[in-house]
Amino acid sequence: MSDNPLDPQADPFKPPEIPIEVHCLHCDQEYDSYLIEWRECISADGTPQGFWCCPTPGCDGIGFGFDILPTDPNYQDEHGGWVSFDDEEDGEPWEQPDEEPWDEKDEFEE
Ligand SMILES: [Zn+2]
Repeated sequence: MSDNPLDPQADPFKPPEIPIEVHCLHCDQEYDSYLIEWRECISADGTPQGFWCCPTPGCDGIGFGFDILPTDPNYQDEHGGWVSFDDEEDGEPWEQPDEEPWDEKDEFEE
């Protein structure tokens, strides 16, 4: 299980594996996503926590997809799973890009 708050790879706001151009909402800068920095700090309750942070000095923007967004509004990550922020309901229903590897029918035949 990777519940470790200090595991950069397990963080939901991890930048994409393939660098893209991103824009920070806090400092209004554009840069490549590989520049987003992993930083660790101690939170108010004494537990260590890590965050993907904006690399701009003095900026407190954190999290790819949170404060730091792709400049391309049609961006999808390498899994096709980028969740856009539009909440209109006339879109297609969310679909998994890949089918589950197992076949439920076989389980029932037994
Ligand atoms: Zn910033």
